Amino acid sequence: MKLPFILAKRFVAGESFTESIPKAKELNNKNLKLTLDLLGENVKDRQTASDTVDSYIRLLDGINEHELESSISIKLTMMGLDIDEDFCRENLFRLLDIAQKHDQFVRIDMEGSDNTQITLDIFKEAHQRYGSHIGTVIQSMLHRSKNDINELADMGADIRLVKGAYNEPSKIAHQNMPAIREAFKEQAKVLLEKTDFPRFGTHDDELIDWLKTYTTKNDIPKDRFEFQMLYGLREDTMVQLTEEGYRTRVYVPFGSDWLPYFTRRLAERKENIWFVLSTMFKN
Ligand SMILES: Cc1cc2nc3c(=O)[nH]c(=O)nc-3n(C[C@H](O)[C@H](O)[C@H](O)COP(=O)(O)OP(=O)(O)OC[C@H]3O[C@@H](n4cnc5c(N)ncnc54)[C@H](O)[C@@H]3O)c2cc1C
Repeated sequence: MKLPFILAKRFVAGESFTESIPKAKELNNKNLKLTLDLLGENVKDRQTASDTVDSYIRLLDGINEHELESSISIKLTMMGLDIDEDFCRENLFRLLDIAQKHDQFVRIDMEGSDNTQITLDIFKEAHQRYGSHIGTVIQSMLHRSKNDINELADMGADIRLVKGAYNEPSKIAHQNMPAIREAFKEQAKVLLEKTDFPRFGTHDDELIDWLKTYTTKNDIPKDRFEFQMLYGLREDTMVQLTEEGYRTRVYVPFGSDWLPYFTRRLAERKENIWFVLSTMFKN
C-alpha cells in the first residue's frame, strides 16, 4: 500500500521534478542555492538503474532549462551499486560526462556503513577524472572518518560534512551526541584548513554557532564555506545566515519513492512528527 504524499509534503518538494520547480524557484528567490535530489535507493535491477541515470540526466537538463541555481545529489545504490560495482561506476561516469560538459556539479550522498569504502573508492576514481564536478559526504559519527577526512582533504575533495543518518553499531560509530559533535568539529577544522570550500550539513545550533565563532577567530571569510540544511527545516535560519553573508544551500528531495527518506527524518527528531501533522492539518 502506498502512503499518501501529503504525509511527506513537509520534507519532500514534490513527487516529480515538474511539481518541485515552484518550490525550487521560491528558495532561489530567497538567495538560497539548492541541491536537488531524486529520491530512491537500493535499486535491484539493471534496467531501473539505467532509467535512474536517464532521470538524473534529465534533471541536469531541467536545472539548466529552468535556470535554477542547483547542483544534484545522487546515491550509488540507485545507480546499481548493489548489483555490480563496474556497472555502477559506468552509470556514474555516464552522468558525470554530461555534468562536466554542462559545467554542473554532482555529489555522491553517503549511505550506510556497508557502502562507505566502495563509495569512497568510486568517488576517488571519479574525482581523478572529473575534478571539481564531483563531491561526496563524510559522516562524522563513524570512527573511520577521522582518517578518511584527512585523505580526502589532502586530495582537495569537495566534501559535505554531516553527522550521519544511519543507525550504526558502537564498534564503528560514536553513539552519543557530545562525541558526534566533537568529531564533527575536529573534522570541520581539517576541511577548513585544507580544502577550498567545505560544506557543513547540519541544523544543530551548537555546531552552527561553533562554526561561526571558529571561522571568525581564525580569519576564515564567510564566503569560504557553506551551510547546508534539508528542505522543510529551519528555512528562516538559512535566510538569516544568508543575510549575515554566509553561503547557504538547501537540499531539496523530490520523487515518488520518498518513504525511506521520510522515515529517517521522523526517526531523527521527534519534533518532525509534529511538523508532519501540522502540515496535514493545514491542508
Ligand atoms: C544538506 C544535508 C545533507 C545530508 N546528507 C547526508 C548524507 O549524504 N548521508 C547521511 O548519512 N546523512 C546526511 N544528512 C543527515 C545528517 O547526517 C543528520 O542525520 C541530520 O542532519 C541530523 O543531524 P543535525 O546535525 O542536523 O541535527 P540533530 O542531531 O538531529 O539535532 C541536534 C540538535 O540540533 C537542533 N535541531 C535539529 N533540527 C532542528 C530543527 N529542525 N529546528 C531547530 N533545531 C533543530 C536541536 O537543538 C537538536 O537537539 C544530511 C543532512 C543535511 C542537512
